Amino acid sequence: MDRDYRMLIGGELVEGVTQFDVINPATDAPFARCPKADEALLERAVSAAKRAFPAWSALSIEERTALVDKLADALEQRAGEFASLLTSEQGKPLDQAMHEIMGSVFTLRAFAAMRIEPQTLKDEGGNKVIEHRTPLGVVAAITPWNFPVILLMNKLGPALVTGNVMVAKPAPTTPLTTLLFGEICRDVLPAGVVNIICDQNNLGSKLTTHPDVAKVAFTGSTATGRKVMAAAAESVKRVTLELGGNDAAIVLDDVDPRQVARKVYAGAMTNAGQICVAIKRAYVPEPMYDEFCDELAKLARDAVVDDGFKQGTTIGPIQNRMQFEKVRALLDDARAHGTVLAGGEPLDRPGYFIPPTIVRDLDEDAPLVREEQFGPVLPVLKYADIDDVIARANDSEYGLGGTIWGKDLDRAMDVARRIDSGTVWINQFLAIDANIPFRGAKQSGLGGELGEAGLHEYTQAHVINAVALEEA
Ligand code: NAD
Repeated sequence: MDRDYRMLIGGELVEGVTQFDVINPATDAPFARCPKADEALLERAVSAAKRAFPAWSALSIEERTALVDKLADALEQRAGEFASLLTSEQGKPLDQAMHEIMGSVFTLRAFAAMRIEPQTLKDEGGNKVIEHRTPLGVVAAITPWNFPVILLMNKLGPALVTGNVMVAKPAPTTPLTTLLFGEICRDVLPAGVVNIICDQNNLGSKLTTHPDVAKVAFTGSTATGRKVMAAAAESVKRVTLELGGNDAAIVLDDVDPRQVARKVYAGAMTNAGQICVAIKRAYVPEPMYDEFCDELAKLARDAVVDDGFKQGTTIGPIQNRMQFEKVRALLDDARAHGTVLAGGEPLDRPGYFIPPTIVRDLDEDAPLVREEQFGPVLPVLKYADIDDVIARANDSEYGLGGTIWGKDLDRAMDVARRIDSGTVWINQFLAIDANIPFRGAKQSGLGGELGEAGLHEYTQAHVINAVALEEA
């Protein structure tokens, strides 16, 4: 507890009304205290943002993007400090934490390089119609605990570039990297353009119903996303929802099972499986099923499951106790109804460690297959017929991502086109890029982030339709 963390309101770093512990998931012990806001502080944050909006939105886009670039530079300069704090609060191995921080720097720079120009929709017979894109006002950014830094930048970059102001609220189990970023915002941005408040899951609904919040940019579970959408309806707020997923990997029959098993394993186990687009179920052709499962199990047994600060760790802990218990319950069911080839039991040590687990022989309706496990536990299922496996992959309320693995790219493309999700990757996973739009189908989301489409989500179309007055 060697450092104080403060919230950012109106350009000042402020204390909370009280504080709560932040737990290191690798030790199950508190390592820092987080300031907690109440409704009065939330009000201050929203009004500070509202006051900052006219001047910020009046700046030229060049002035705003120059400041977003400065945020990126400052984050890059302190990347080591951010990565280390991210490993402490989130649990991921230090190299993966550094990857998230540098990805955040890249994301900010990518948005700073984007422009939206006014579009002339008509210019004939004296009638000129121009569409401008105008900012919305105060954006509430609500983020989850799996990628607390980059998921904030996916919102903050486009919001600021297009002239909006922000109140950000991180998840209560991973608030500190966001607070540290608040120190950078204080030094770089005009007061009130970005405000950061922390809660213990009690202030999100105040933000989503606040009359002065114009848009809610939310990443989290589908269950909370439904609440956000309902709350936003009251004042017809704009919402972007990036929600849960249950992505299927479909392995085609022309691949080398050992080569593809390595990739599918990484797609399922990176960040201990706590990725919205992690591979959450794998479908393998019957003739290669045994070999594929055995290869996955071998990789799982070779994993180094340990504290993210320890050199060589490949899998850190689950981020928080609640999620740990959820994954543990899925494991119990999988052990009873399937065959566990590797892993299967939490490690007998402090911290929320679950080793990579490979489960075969489960039915399609097993909870581990139907639900989003959000942990390092992969069910592997077999198939005999391509139409049947596509139907099984699509039989889900989710439609976030998905992967196809095949040598014949045309055939893989055909299968990919039939997958009902926002993104399908072929022979790769998690190829998320700030310049490529990302969005969920079905109950995995509404609207989207990244790319120029992501920039548009922070604007309103403003059409000016003019004709000249006739001669009097
Ligand atoms: P969560 O829904 O529990 O919490 C997300 C955020 O919402 C937190 O900041 C929380 O404090 C806040 N919140 C809680 N109740 C709220 C309410 N009533 N109104 C407004 N905000 C409220 O999600 P989580 O457990 O932190 O994150 C894991 C989930 O996020 C998984 O389902 C994962 O798939 C999803 N996710 C999706 C994406 C994507 O881009 N689609 C990316 C990462 C994570």
